[in-house]
Formats: sequence, C-alpha cells, structure tokens
Amino acid sequence: MSSNLIPTYAPPNLVFERGEGVYLYDVDGGKWLDFIAGIAVNALGHCHPALVSALQEQSQKLWHVSNMFDVPMREQLAARYCADTFADLVFFTNSGTEAIEGLLKAARRYHFENNQPERIEILTFQGAFHGRSYGAINAGGNPAYLKGFGPAMSGFKQLPFADEQAFIDAISDTTAAVLIEPVQGEGGLRAAPEDFLRLLRAKCDETGALLLYDEIQCGAGRTGKLFAHQWTDAEPDGMAVAKGVGGGFPLGAFLLTEEVGKNMVVGTHGSTYGGNPLAMAVGIALWDEISKPETMDNVIKVGNFLKQQLAGLADNYDDIVMEPRGKGLLVGLKLHDKYVAKNLANLAREQGLLIGAAGDNVIRMAPPLIITESHASEAIAKLDRALQKAREETG
Ligand SMILES: *Cc1c(COP(=O)(O)O)cnc(C)c1O
Repeated sequence: MSSNLIPTYAPPNLVFERGEGVYLYDVDGGKWLDFIAGIAVNALGHCHPALVSALQEQSQKLWHVSNMFDVPMREQLAARYCADTFADLVFFTNSGTEAIEGLLKAARRYHFENNQPERIEILTFQGAFHGRSYGAINAGGNPAYLKGFGPAMSGFKQLPFADEQAFIDAISDTTAAVLIEPVQGEGGLRAAPEDFLRLLRAKCDETGALLLYDEIQCGAGRTGKLFAHQWTDAEPDGMAVAKGVGGGFPLGAFLLTEEVGKNMVVGTHGSTYGGNPLAMAVGIALWDEISKPETMDNVIKVGNFLKQQLAGLADNYDDIVMEPRGKGLLVGLKLHDKYVAKNLANLAREQGLLIGAAGDNVIRMAPPLIITESHASEAIAKLDRALQKAREETG
C-alpha cells in the first residue's frame, strides 16, 4: 500500500500545479484545456482576478468566527440570492450535500409546524444525485451508493424521471415534498421538460407538498440563467445550491420562501463553518460576476455554439454517439452501449482535453462560464480526435 488516503477515488497519474482561466498546467509543464472545471465548480475559470483579490483581501482581515457571531457579508450575499430568485431566506453551508440535508429538514419541519408531523415522504427521481450524506444518498436512491450502509431510510420514494403519469399517481396530500434537479448532472445531463416542472408546481400547489430544486450542478448560471428552473415560471419553495456559487471555494446554501424558512428557528439547524468570512467574500465576488447580463449572454451564445458542434460530432460518429445532451454549458454526448463514456473521457485527456463521464453512459462537459467560441472549437477538435481513436480501438 503506497497511499494513506482512503481509496474512494482513483485519479489518473497527473498532478496540476496551477490554473489560469480555462487552462490547467501540470507539474511537468503540460497544458490542459479544462472543460470539466472541478465538476461544474470553477464557474469563472481558474484564478479569476476578482476572486483572487476578494480572497486575498479577506484573508488578511478575518477568517472565521463561527455562527456564534454576526458576519455582515452573510446578509449581503443572502440579499443578492434573494433579489435574483424566488427566495426570502438563506442558510449557508460548505457543500452541496449539506445544502440538501438542510432543505430536506426544512421541508419536514414545515409540515411539522403545520400540525402534520406524519407528513414526511419526499418524492425523488431515478437518475438523481443529491450528494453523499445519509439523507442525500437515500434521496438519490442510487443502489450503488446505498449498498452496505445499513437499512434504507423511510420517507423517500423514487419515480421515473419526467414521467407525468407516474408522478400524478404518486403525489398525494400526504407527500411532504418533491425534490428534483431541473437538469440532472450525474444522471446523464437530462433536462426535465419545462412542462414537467410546471406540472410539479401545479400538483404541489394542489396537495400542499413543497417543491424543492437541487440546482447544485445546473445552477449558478450554468444553463444561461442564474438558475436552470428560471427558464420556466415554475418556482420552487426551496432550493439547494453549491458547486459554482463558490467558484472553487467550498460554499453552498439552501434557499427558502419565508413561509417555509420561518420554521427553522434558533436551534433547529446549524453549521460551524457555514457562512465563513472567506467563503462569503468569494461568494459575493463570484455572484457579482455571474449576475452580469454579459456572463449569461456568453453562456447562451457559446453554449449554443458548443451544442451545435457536438451535434456535428454526433452525426459524424453516429456509430459511437447516440445523441447530444444537456443545456447551456452543461453538455455532453450519450454513447452507444458498445462504447464506455469513461474510456472516451480518458481518450480526450490524452488529447489534452479534460472532460468527465456521467451516468447513463454520457460524456460530460462543464467548462468555465467564461469560455469563448475559440475554446469551444479547440475542445471539439480534441474530442474529434478522441472519437477517431475510440473508433480505431473498438472498430
Ligand atoms: C455535486 C452534487 C451534489 C453534492 O454536492 P457536494 O458538494 O459534493 O456535497 C448534490 N446534488 C447535485 C445535483 C450535485 O451535482
């Protein structure tokens, strides 16, 4: 045994030394085009000057005081989130899975306070990924992530993704909440149809269930709106965010309407680090960049270009590729069974392009939101060569 790390990951033999914009540089001087961005995290690329100076400045003033004391920047960032969304109230976390935990607790607490303590069932969808804590793996329902960790928690029911009838049959006035990613990330870049989100909203209104969005991956501007559900009028009662909102600094949050959030009174929830000054300084600087209309215009423009180029590859390699997937700058290709997404991602890496694999045999791109069409063309050329190699290898 040569490592002291618990072997939950198997990274390639590659070590990065620094990053700048859309590129990473390894310890041997190699240059890499980063189209996965720490799994949809580095929204502004690597070492964006606005984030570097926010972090540097804050690091010389104050790092941490815990939630025993007020941190005015928390109010400032929460006010930004609330101004740009359905939400009235925000709780800051350090990660996505914690944001999901808080969201689930808030949903159950809401029904408890409304004299329906038995109303605990959360409806979720196949292919979902909500994180790795106990609550989140039970919400996600992926058997591989649940295996060996004790009995499944009660109060979660999984439905086929975007299946209207299955949903209508499942929801009732005993349902506590419905939790969905408007665009599934790990599940294979599947976007829920806008009408499906509207149906969820309508049925939640009818039954009194809460609608909860997991926008940890598809939020923070990734689809060309600050949050993916904002392509529709189907607003939630609660939402979890993380990944891109920190731009590489650990930061998440759950956002609630006043109606739901007012029940989370003193003592109901907590976090030692949540809303830490360093995270707040970076979170504010990041939000001020991505909430500029130019940033979202860029995501839409370059996202359309990239999707078009991917569609071109799908045509040229229809023996390998089934279809392009995704929305905005969360896009990829679903492969035929004969090819394995992870292998194609490895072949892309051999071409100097960093991409990921998602579930459902999909290769995933989640580049920084600041990429240009020329970065997209560079990625497509590299992916083209990787597809050529895959064809040669598999024949
Ligand atoms: C990554 C992710 C999570 C978990 O976030 P962590 O920060 O890894 O805990 C939850 N939901 C979705 C949709 C994600 O993509």
